[in-house]
Formats: sequence, structure tokens, C-alpha cells
Amino acid sequence: MSDKDREFEQEEAADSGEVVDEGKDDFEDICYICRRPESVAGKMIKIPNDICICQDCMQRTFDSMNNAGMGNLNFGGMNVEDLINSGKTPNISMINLSDLSGFMPQSQKLKKKKAKKEKAPEPVLDIHSIPAPHKIKASLDEYIIGQEHAKKVMSVAVYNHYKRVADDAKKNADGIEIEKSNMLMIGPTGSGKTYLVKTLARLLDVPLAITDATSLTEAGYIGDDIESVVSKLLAAADNDVEKAEHGIIFIDEIDKIAKKRNTNQRDVSGESVQQGMLKLLEGAEIEVPVGASSKNAMVPLTTVNTKDILFICGGAFPDLEEVIKERLNKEASIGFRADLKDKYDHDENLLQKVTVEDVRKFGMIPEFLGRLPILFSLEALTEDMLVRILREPKNAIVKQYQKLLEYDEVKLEFEEEALYSIAKMAKEKKVGARALRAIIEEFMLDIMYEIPKDDNIGMVTITKEYVEKTGGPRITMRGCMGIGEKSVERVGMA
Ligand code: ADP
Repeated sequence: MSDKDREFEQEEAADSGEVVDEGKDDFEDICYICRRPESVAGKMIKIPNDICICQDCMQRTFDSMNNAGMGNLNFGGMNVEDLINSGKTPNISMINLSDLSGFMPQSQKLKKKKAKKEKAPEPVLDIHSIPAPHKIKASLDEYIIGQEHAKKVMSVAVYNHYKRVADDAKKNADGIEIEKSNMLMIGPTGSGKTYLVKTLARLLDVPLAITDATSLTEAGYIGDDIESVVSKLLAAADNDVEKAEHGIIFIDEIDKIAKKRNTNQRDVSGESVQQGMLKLLEGAEIEVPVGASSKNAMVPLTTVNTKDILFICGGAFPDLEEVIKERLNKEASIGFRADLKDKYDHDENLLQKVTVEDVRKFGMIPEFLGRLPILFSLEALTEDMLVRILREPKNAIVKQYQKLLEYDEVKLEFEEEALYSIAKMAKEKKVGARALRAIIEEFMLDIMYEIPKDDNIGMVTITKEYVEKTGGPRITMRGCMGIGEKSVERVGMA
């Protein structure tokens, strides 16, 4: 432990007003010879009169005694390690141990580092009391902007899923078995698929495993076995099988395991993976390795039942829009209500009109789709939604930067136009909300570098010009805060 750490710990104890327990166990033992504490030198050998000697020093002492011709010191056939493990006290009578007692004043003793007790966060929603769908949705609303339909469908599905789990526990006495509500989620990249699932799992405080379907292959081929997703969940549940059995598995990029068209080879990463996942989705006893992703002779195995695990599959399904368009055009061109052929060409939310048949045409096998009964899609994010994502969620990016600058006692403001400008730039990148952070990060770098230099700065306003690199941010000095007119403008700070 360095001096700094020690000081910090003492200060911390003083600050918190803790009553310092002066018990013996709170202090580290210190080696009488090399003066290193227990945390550095390892376990100590205790000899009478509260004297401790570290393993190294004890060994060195023995060695030098042997070299000095004192014969082979034999402590009942034990070496130093045995001595430590046995906890016995060596009988050294050459030194008068009572002379050494009391050599260490209390002020020189090192306090042991306390193992920090982490308090488990209280779950916002308790799955045991099965929160109503509107409550689940209200909690999701705090983090996820838009996607109203998706949030509603998910809340109901989760509600039903945990009802089913509860019903299972009662051994469904009436003989009615509720089916599993696994979900298939379709949405453009960066529209919040992963974020939705992550938020849901956090709110419900259930373990979550996120896997990429691209890495999965049929068992026996290079890549991850399909069952490895369950061992990931087990790891997320701290190897607690019961907890894992009520968890959520999110399989992203599910469109990548679509049946490959026009191929004569064995499709080990496509259709076969879908086949392999069938029993997992439905519910089966799976033997999974504990603490490893693949089974081998060295790792212990345990059995996890996937019957109550909620599976959510997600993907962008890039060419699915073509399939939907084709179907819609076909429907629209028949009969009296025939419509223009290019009616759906510029429809951004074509994915909302998806049906199971479209997904099947895309390359998912019917058995697979049958086990994901809830199909829904997410909207493409509009500029307005992107602006809301910037400032509204609980941990919105704008709020995060405001908090960072608060440490320098500087207020950070974004002009409405500046936010729209950022959203527009993000939209052009076509990666959804994921582009927002990269754009902000780029221009905030200068702000965060320059602002702490000058203590007089009280407020920074990000302008549209600054975002578009045609001007600078508006800087307001401390004395002028609240008097908008007097704000000092510094153009060209970047
Ligand atoms: P994908 O749909 O590709 O899985 P992600 O869920 O990973 O996209 O989204 C990337 C990031 O964008 C998230 O971490 C989140 O911060 C933000 N984001 C995306 N959509 C939303 C949304 N609707 N509301 C709030 N934040 C969002």
C-alpha cells in the first residue's frame, strides 16, 4: 500500500465519521525484519510476544544459519511453508524474545484495507410481483425515446412471460399451459434494439446474455457452439443456475443466419444454426460448461433448463424491405384499387408492415419463426427523435457533458438549432443514434481542453455555427452570467 493510499484511507475514515475499531484484526501484521506489511509480504509466521516474520525473511534466516555452520535446523521436519500452513510457532530460543516485545507502536501499524461492501442495486421492477405492462413501459420510457409500439409489445410479452414462469411454479394445476413469448425484433441499425433489451434486463434485474449470431456455427465446426449462449447467461448470473433460468438471452444479427440462397454446400452457419436453436428456444435441458465457452475435459458441466429463459432475437434484415415492397406492390396492383408501383419506394418505415411470411421469404425457416411468436419492428429514427435522444433520456449525452463541465463550475448549454444540426449530421451517417456520440465527441474535445484553462468562464453555449465548423461557441464570463447581452463572444476557439 503506498503512502498516498494510506493517507486517503485515513481521510476517508475521518470524513465518514466512522468509529474506528481499534481491534487487533484491523491492522496488518508487519514483518519484524524487513518491515513489509502483510499485504505486500504475504502470510506471516507468528512467534511469541506478537512478533511476526515474513516467509522470505524466515527462509533467509534459516539459510544463513545453515551456512554459518549451525547444522541443519530442523523444526520437526517442517520447512517454512509447512510452518506457515501448520500455524505452529517455531521454537527459537537463541534470541530472548521478551526483549523484542512492544517494539511496534500503534501509530506505525498499517490499517488493513477494508473489502468494499457493494450494495446490490434495488431492482426498479420486481419480477416476483410481476409488474403490469404499463409500469414496464413507463420505466422504459425514461430511457428509450420513441419506439412506442416496440415498447408496448415488449412490455406485454415480458409481463406474460413472467406470468407463465409463475404459473409453471404452481405446476399449472388447471392443465392450461401458457406458451413462451420469445420475440423477434426487426429494426434498422442504431435504432435501439440492444439498448431496449439491456434496459429491460436492468430494470427487471434479471441476468442478460448478448450474443452475435454471426459467430455461431453448428456444433463441431469452427466458431461458437449454439449452446454457448446459455453458458454466457450462466456467467452473467454469477453461475447461479436458478437465476440464469429466469434470464434473458438476446441474439443480435439474427438475419446473418438466414438460409443461404443458391448454395450447394452444407450451410453450417446459416440454416443449421437455425435448426440447432430450435430446442433451445422451445425449452430443453442443456448441458453447459461452467466458466468457459466450450466443453472440454477440464471444465465442470452443469444442466440449465431453457424453458423459462426469454429469448429475444434482433436484426436489421437489410433486404427485407425489398421483400415487403414486392408483396405490397403485388397486393396493390391487383383489382380496382390498383396503385402506383413506386408508392412504397420512399417509405422509411416499410419494416413496420412486416409479416411472418416476409421473414420466411428472407431465409428464416418456418420452425424457427414458429418459436418466436412475437414479431415486431422498430422505427427508423427521425431527426426529431435524434434531438430528443440527445437531451431527454435519463442519461442523455447532453446531460453527461453538462455534468462533466459542472465539475469545472461551468454551465453548458446547447442551442436548439445546434442540436438539430447534430441530428442532421447523424442522420446522414445512416447508423442511427450511434453516430450522435461520435459527432459530439469531436467538437466537445476542444471545449473540454480549453475551458479549464480560464477560471473566469462561467458558461459555454454550443451554437449551430460551432457544430457546423463555421464559427465558435458562445462564451459567457462569470460576471456577465444572466446578462445575455454582455456575453463575450470568442469566435475561433476551435
Ligand atoms: P441497435 O439497434 O443497432 O442494436 P443500439 O441499441 O446498440 O442499436 O443503439 C446504440 C445507442 O444509441 C444506444 O446505446 C443508445 O444510447 C442510443 N439509442 C438508440 N436508439 C435509442 C432510442 N430510441 N432512445 C434512446 N437512445 C437510443
